[in-house]
Amino acid sequence: MKTIENFIDTALQESLFNLGLYLFFGIAVFVIVWVLFKNVWRWRRIQPRSEGRAHFFRHDILFSVGSILLAGLLTACITMLDTWGYMKLYSDFHAYGSFWAIAQIFFLIFFYDAYFYWTHRFMHHPKIYHWVHKTHHKSTDPSPLTIFSFHPFENLIEFLPFLLLPMIIPIYWPMLFLWQSFDLINNVTAHLGYEIYMRKWLRIPLLKLKTTSTHHNMHHEQFFGNYGLYFTFWDRWMKTEIKDYEDRFKAIHHNRNLIS
Ligand SMILES: [Zn+2]
Ligand SMILES: [Zn+2]
Repeated sequence: MKTIENFIDTALQESLFNLGLYLFFGIAVFVIVWVLFKNVWRWRRIQPRSEGRAHFFRHDILFSVGSILLAGLLTACITMLDTWGYMKLYSDFHAYGSFWAIAQIFFLIFFYDAYFYWTHRFMHHPKIYHWVHKTHHKSTDPSPLTIFSFHPFENLIEFLPFLLLPMIIPIYWPMLFLWQSFDLINNVTAHLGYEIYMRKWLRIPLLKLKTTSTHHNMHHEQFFGNYGLYFTFWDRWMKTEIKDYEDRFKAIHHNRNLIS
């Protein structure tokens, strides 16, 4: 009985925490960028001719709330499994050596980037797309309201590594938190609808490997290509990068995007 109470408690707390994240990073950022400062930052708009449609916003909010509740339940599962000793999550920095405590953040980011690229391509398969991934693509011009807008099946696919990885390898709690924070910031910039990365971004070889706001926005706009999450190299290697991606990025920074 106590176990069920703990499970419900954790699920509620996690849902409230995720709701707080959505209120801030989804709704507040949307109000600031898309409403209050839309004219100030108009030149950075990635799809300047597209106007936001209220029914897309409603759809994104509805599915985001669903994702938040589901994420609460899934996180409660992780907490219970951790309590029962099935997880290798740890909080002592030296428990598995300081090298692993630091290096794992790179492993987590690169591993998840590869996982996302391939599962994302899988979800674009014509037989799968309509059942799973179409929900996220409803907004062809994504906004911060889109950040958690996923079908429950897609939530499960994207959540799987969070459940399985800590069962297999030791993960230091603060690094899990760091990875989640990086993922959230990346999620917001990818769906911002405005290019936030600086003009020189694609001219610097190392920075060019990181996806920009334009990169994922073009995926929503065109459906095919630019499947990557954090980095651009999987799209480069698999030749799935949208061919005018760099030109589009440059056009935004040279104000040509508004007139072309
Ligand atoms: Zn997609
Ligand atoms: Zn997206």
